[in-house]
Amino acid sequence: MTPRVSKVWTSCYSEAFLSSVEVQVLLRNGLPRFDIIGLPKNMIREGKDRIYSALSHLGIELPSKKILVNLNPADRPKEGSHFDLPILIGILKCLGHLSSGENDKDFYWGELQLDGNIRPLEDHLAHLLFAHQARASRLLLSQDKAELDSLQSFLSPRIQNIRNVADIFMCPSSPSLVVKASNSMDRVTRQWLDEDATNAKWSQLLGSSEQFLFWSLVSLGRHHVLVEGPPGVGKSSWCQALGELQRPLPPHLWWSRYQFQSRQKCRELKDLWNPPFEAPHHSSSRAAIIGGGHAQVLAGSMTRAHLGILFLDELPEYHRDLLEALREPLESKSITIARRGLSQQLPADMQLLAAMNPCGCGYYQSKKTCHCVPGEMYRYRQRVSEPLRDRFHWKVYWKYEAQKPLPEYKLCKLRDRLISAERQPPAPLGHLYLPTRLSARQQRLWLDKLSIYSRWKHCSEIGPTEVREFEDFSAQIEGLDKGHEAISIKRMEGER
Ligand SMILES: [Zn+2]
Repeated sequence: MTPRVSKVWTSCYSEAFLSSVEVQVLLRNGLPRFDIIGLPKNMIREGKDRIYSALSHLGIELPSKKILVNLNPADRPKEGSHFDLPILIGILKCLGHLSSGENDKDFYWGELQLDGNIRPLEDHLAHLLFAHQARASRLLLSQDKAELDSLQSFLSPRIQNIRNVADIFMCPSSPSLVVKASNSMDRVTRQWLDEDATNAKWSQLLGSSEQFLFWSLVSLGRHHVLVEGPPGVGKSSWCQALGELQRPLPPHLWWSRYQFQSRQKCRELKDLWNPPFEAPHHSSSRAAIIGGGHAQVLAGSMTRAHLGILFLDELPEYHRDLLEALREPLESKSITIARRGLSQQLPADMQLLAAMNPCGCGYYQSKKTCHCVPGEMYRYRQRVSEPLRDRFHWKVYWKYEAQKPLPEYKLCKLRDRLISAERQPPAPLGHLYLPTRLSARQQRLWLDKLSIYSRWKHCSEIGPTEVREFEDFSAQIEGLDKGHEAISIKRMEGER
């Protein structure tokens, strides 16, 4: 006997996060009608006509009964044109044209078109990951082995036309998206290392070997850095290029980037593992950076930069209250936003990079003459409060220096060294410190030493002499840096 109520699944964003929606279809006696209930927005209601046209393409005539579609849970508003396909499949199942197991949790997304084609969802990868989390039994996708090559074919929607809709049910136990972490991570890393220096941001990068080393260590430890310096020393280009040094995210973190609603779309496969780089302009509103909104809570740049980098260029130009709002999430790695009696916690584990001029005109302590009067300069610098400055692990001042492109620091080579530095077991020293507030000379000395003692070089190169030398040096630096906080650059297991 044909089941009277059929169930299929889909997902949509509601209250900032992606959540699943059960599409229940019921056929019952009564005047022929087609109703969709469960707080659908207009886009979903308009789908009725598209569904009628799809049914006529399939040559299926609806019985003169009442069709009732319920979108469960009914208390959350839903929107999106991708509800067409799940509703259509629900109807087909209800009519007995398609069948699946009683307990199958099948997810579908797709907008029907009048010619019978199916338009896939723009950010289908995010929804796929969600369904994977939700233990979907069928994903409108095929197979299998989770090798990266097959992943590509596997992530693009398998049916383009509703005529092939029955194909999905041909292999009744098609396994869901199983990403075998270890395998795919190796492939992802290899692909990342091969990507190389056709990269525009990187190929124009100038610097000294200390700068290359400094930024590599900053990337390795995900340190928050504030760079000051006159215009044209390369502050912004370095910060932007750092985005290219971010290591690919492991599979268990892919999902955490896309679970919340944002304008960020997951379109390509590499969007899954590339950590984000957000650089909002200083004219951006508070809600755009911190998160929030009127009707519902939307993620801001801070949340979109979760597991990646948030870069604020011309730091003093941002609104003061916005900058102050950054302080707490930098500590807690999340932000709680309250709206209309609801409160929503959004993740915000970002690395903060910021750049600023030393004064309003920008030329203080540089080759050109600074025209700022002391009061002006004071006010300019006060725009970035002391507590916020304290959140930065490193505050560096850059002067004009002879900078040149350094061939030994090509992007692929640097990436390769970062990966091997990360993979090596911790150095015998246990952990290393990146002291704050050193003079330029001390910083340079420190970097020289650090290049030897960090996992940057192979552990086997560190012998007892080096260990002793390092301890002496540490004591020396700590003497210089007395009273200042030292920050461990040891990367905690599983921290990221
Ligand atoms: Zn000035």
